[in-house]
Amino acid sequence: MTILANKTDLVRAGSGTWQDQMKWAIRDLRGLRDVLGLADEGELQHAAEAEFPVFAPLPYLTRITPGDSQDPLLRQLWPSGSEMESPSHFSTDPLGESDATKSSGMLQKYQGRVLLVTTGACAIHCRYCFRRHFPYEQSPKSMAQWEPTLTQIAADDSIDEVILSGGDPLTIVDHSLSRLIARIDEMAHIKRIRFHTRLPIMIPQRVTDAFLEILANARCQMIVVIHANHANELDLSVEQALSKIANSGAMLLNQAVLLRGVNDSLESLKNLSQRLLRCRVLPYYLHQLDPVSGAAHFEVDVKQGLQLVTELRSCLPGYAVPRYVQELRGEPNKTVLA
Ligand code: SF4
Repeated sequence: MTILANKTDLVRAGSGTWQDQMKWAIRDLRGLRDVLGLADEGELQHAAEAEFPVFAPLPYLTRITPGDSQDPLLRQLWPSGSEMESPSHFSTDPLGESDATKSSGMLQKYQGRVLLVTTGACAIHCRYCFRRHFPYEQSPKSMAQWEPTLTQIAADDSIDEVILSGGDPLTIVDHSLSRLIARIDEMAHIKRIRFHTRLPIMIPQRVTDAFLEILANARCQMIVVIHANHANELDLSVEQALSKIANSGAMLLNQAVLLRGVNDSLESLKNLSQRLLRCRVLPYYLHQLDPVSGAAHFEVDVKQGLQLVTELRSCLPGYAVPRYVQELRGEPNKTVLA
C-alpha cells in the first residue's frame, strides 16, 4: 500500500455506512503496518496474529498516532509476540462461561439477569478480550434458532433484565435487531434490555436513525454500556454519536479494563473519566483483567489498581470514579475491589 492509499483510507474513515466501514476494516498485520507506518515484529507476532486475527476499523485507526508502537489505542489491537506466553493461571475460559451456559446462546451468571451471545462478530479484535477463545459457532444465528431460548426467558419471571452481548450485538443489522428487541420487549416481566457494545466508538456511523428508534420506542428501560479504555478513543464523531444515544432516553454507561501500557496511570484514568462525562457517559466499571490466555502482558497488579483508584478518588467527584471490580468464576456477583 502506498502513502497515497493511506490518505485515501483516512478519507474513507469518515464516509460510507457502518456496513461499508466493517467491509473496509483492516484485517491483517500487513495492512495495519502499511496504514500506520509500523515495523514488522517478527515470527512470534505473526504467530499471535494466526491465533487471533486482526480486525481494525478505519475510524478508530485515525485516532492512532502513525509510527508510535506504544500508542494506547494501537496496543489494544496490535498483535504481540508476548501473547504466545501464558502463565498457568491464564486460560481459554477464564470466567467459567461454559458452566454458565443455560440454554443455546444464553449465559446466566447472576440472579435476575441473562446474557445472550448474539454474535461472534465485533468491530475490533481486542487483544485482551476474555472471549477470544469463545465457541461462538454454538450460538444461534437466526430468530428461528433463538426461539427456544427466548421461549425459556418468556417463561421465567425471575429474569428482569436481558443483556445483549457477543461479540458485539450492534454488528447485527437494524431490522434483525429490531425483531429480537421486539420479542424481548413483549415479555412483561423484562424491565431492562442492556447492550454491551464497542461499535459506537469503533464506527460512530453505527448509531443510525433506525437504531435510535429501537432505543426510543422500547417499553423496557434501554441501557447502552460502551467500552472505552482511553480518552483518545472518544473523538468528536464518537461524542456526537453518544449524544444521540443519550437523547434517545437510553442510559449510557462505560466499562473499561485496566490494561498495562494503555490506561495504567492516574492521568490516563482521570482523562478517560472526564472525557466520558463530557460525552454524557457515566464511568461505571474499571475491570481487573480477566486471565485469558494470550493477554497476560496486559495485566496490572491489583495493588497498583487499588492505588490508582484511591488517587482517582482524591481528584474527581465520586460519580466520576468507576467501581474497580473483578469477575471471579462461579461467584454470584462481581467482586468490588474499590
Ligand atoms: S469488542 Fe468486546 S467482545 Fe469484541 S473483541 Fe473487543 S472486548 Fe471482545
